[in-house]
Amino acid sequence: MADVHTKVQRSYNMSRIKSKNTTPEMLVRRFLHAKGFRYKLHESKLPGKPDIVLTKYKTIIFVHGCYWHGHSDCKDYVVPKTRTSWWLSKIGKNISRDLLATTALENDGWKVITLWGCQLEGKTKIKTLAQLPSLIRES
Ligand SMILES: [Zn+2]
Repeated sequence: MADVHTKVQRSYNMSRIKSKNTTPEMLVRRFLHAKGFRYKLHESKLPGKPDIVLTKYKTIIFVHGCYWHGHSDCKDYVVPKTRTSWWLSKIGKNISRDLLATTALENDGWKVITLWGCQLEGKTKIKTLAQLPSLIRES
């Protein structure tokens, strides 16, 4: 499709999504580090290449962008009005990949914590982060 407007629009969306995905993960990493947790990042040997791996606690943390990972009932996940089926299939694939990874990890004895972008924004952010250490430590 050689539609210039679509292309421009798409790269605009991409850049917005990308920065939105990166920031919440950094937030979680900085918080954990400050609390004394040590972790590995983007562990490619594990299913789903988890964002944060806390080996000591056998815990995995995924930080999902609400948009790419199709957070249900979320204000940040709005199905695009253009190229809808393309997006739905793309996001649908991400959702099933996430589900498969989580199941595989849990079967291997990992505890999987999924954090959503919208849980790491504004006031909710503080609450989400505050709960994290006990979530990690409890087994
Ligand atoms: Zn969300």
